[in-house]
Amino acid sequence: MIDGSPQRSLFDLTFDGLEQALTVAGLRPAHARTFWRALYRAAPGDLRARRDFLPPLRRWIEENAHVAGGWSAALPEVAADTRSSDGLTRKFLLRLADGHAVETVLMGYPGRFTACLSTQVGCAMGCVFCATGQAGFARHLRAGEIVAQVVHAQRALRAAGDDSALRNLVLMGMGEPLHNYDAVLRALAIVTDTRGLNLGPSRITISTVGVAPGIRRLAAENQPFHLAVSLHGASDEERGALVPVNHRWPLAELLDACRFYQQTTARKIFFEWTLIARANDSPAHARRLAALLAGFDAHVNLIPLNATVGFTADAASSATTAEFQRILRAAGLPSTVRQRRGLDVAAGCGQLRAERDWRVTAAPA
Ligand code: SAH
Ligand code: SF4
Repeated sequence: MIDGSPQRSLFDLTFDGLEQALTVAGLRPAHARTFWRALYRAAPGDLRARRDFLPPLRRWIEENAHVAGGWSAALPEVAADTRSSDGLTRKFLLRLADGHAVETVLMGYPGRFTACLSTQVGCAMGCVFCATGQAGFARHLRAGEIVAQVVHAQRALRAAGDDSALRNLVLMGMGEPLHNYDAVLRALAIVTDTRGLNLGPSRITISTVGVAPGIRRLAAENQPFHLAVSLHGASDEERGALVPVNHRWPLAELLDACRFYQQTTARKIFFEWTLIARANDSPAHARRLAALLAGFDAHVNLIPLNATVGFTADAASSATTAEFQRILRAAGLPSTVRQRRGLDVAAGCGQLRAERDWRVTAAPA
């Protein structure tokens, strides 16, 4: 891009949007299908050099390639690419067009990969144990910046010669997805489009700190994704000490929204509980959590606390965790202890903050 307005990202466009951009320029809508496939299915390469594109489409790409205000298929620059010592987790630091950076984590499982996506630069929710929250909020990501993380992850797998496909997405990286609702849902519509990336909606999980109006909206729109709600406390006092937005949407309001979600969608809800030694890991806590979720079709994800600079507490011991889980099971509440991954490269839950501190490049507040 030269001077003037920045280029617009093709990854911001839905299929219909791309079709419209092409028809406005006088092209036939049929070009959109070929172009969309190339964007999302083909190996990376210069789009201008593609032989399967007819001349009008090639001309359109040529005209837009390097002009201010034109459309670009550029992906964020990879500022760092770190692998955990067990080789199963890979963390990318991606530099966005305005200099901010976000992290995307790729986790390998037998035969498949899961990408953990960021939805904002930083986070405004301020959960005390989370590195992203400790660093504050810079800005929302655009839909195209979320889509680009998926495209990048898929290309990185391909470049590494890995046959296993990117199957699952979790919106559990930097940021609060429901604080950036429109861009997040637009990005998910793009990555699930069957003509392109074609990721299955039932393999995508939106994790929220508990933005009650956003949960209601997901339900009202019958969005086909999994919902995970971060709880961490079963009373307003205990939850509020860890998750400040509990003051805005207290437990009663949050659980009302969850009830509405479940009644409307009939979908199971995942509840996340980061286990912190002596703060929320006792048998009494487990019983209170079970009571709180009575009547829900729920699954609890127990997350061992990961270390962050701004929060000194220990993870619950494995004996305490097992006892916690036993109490939930006895109350009929299924749970899973999340595997700890990528800790040696600070890619675990709550550890993402884009190590080369993004605030250095942020505009003054
Ligand atoms: N903002 C969303 C999604 C990103 S955080 C949310 O809060 O749900 C993803 C998960 O990591 C959340 O359940 C969050 O509570 C958890 N988490 C944050 N910091 C953590 C830490 N230090 N150790 C373990 N889990 C953490
Ligand atoms: Fe934001 Fe989630 Fe971290 Fe809370 S846990 S500060 S909502 S990213």
